[in-house]
Amino acid sequence: SGKFFVGGNWKCNGTKDSIKQLVSDLNSATLEPDVDVVVGPPFVYIDQVKNSLTDRIEIAAQNSWIGKGGAFTGEISAEQLKDIGCKWVILGHSERRHVIGEDDQFIGKKAAYALGQDLGVIACIGELLEEREAGKTWDNIVIAYEPVWAIGTGKVASPEQAQEVHVAVRDWLAKNVSAEVASKTRIIYGGSVNAGNSADLAKKEDIDGFLVGGASLKGSDFATIINSVT
Ligand code: 13P
Repeated sequence: SGKFFVGGNWKCNGTKDSIKQLVSDLNSATLEPDVDVVVGPPFVYIDQVKNSLTDRIEIAAQNSWIGKGGAFTGEISAEQLKDIGCKWVILGHSERRHVIGEDDQFIGKKAAYALGQDLGVIACIGELLEEREAGKTWDNIVIAYEPVWAIGTGKVASPEQAQEVHVAVRDWLAKNVSAEVASKTRIIYGGSVNAGNSADLAKKEDIDGFLVGGASLKGSDFATIINSVT
């Protein structure tokens, strides 16, 4: 359902030098044309990446503020992300929920605001799909299912486990939003995806792409994952 989508979430990793190398590897990689590819650098490197990475790959921020900018020390607004050329923002990642303490309501506000600013939202969910005010603009939403136990652990969900949850999420969308939204929303999987396991996962009907952490930091592995589209 929808075009295959692969996001690389670089998290809080990288230096100017390592990112220069990663960008150069990505620029020279051969990527399947029929895949949407997005990378999420740390805020401070977005401009560097924007200025050096091929236009073939779009850029996501890893967070954004709940509203318009102003006196909010340390925050970055959706308008600012647009201004520097970001097309996407990752919201509600489990690390922000469980390590930093963001809750559904706060994430819902961020999602609604970012969508209102025409950013695409990669909305991350955990084991259960929680009801969330994600705004009405489902066109711009990609849902990333990331079981917390699979993130950064090397314990990838089996294709069957991921497929089962993706189907449940799609059914939830069909019941709570609409059949159309359910069929066209991309539901992507994240958690220990690597160059060796992506092809089997990609075969499952309801796995519409990936959100990749560790393996997105190596250009050749990330390219292999992108090219595992079936
Ligand atoms: P890993 O691929 O490192 O497990 O991370 C997954 C993730 O959290 C992507 O957002």
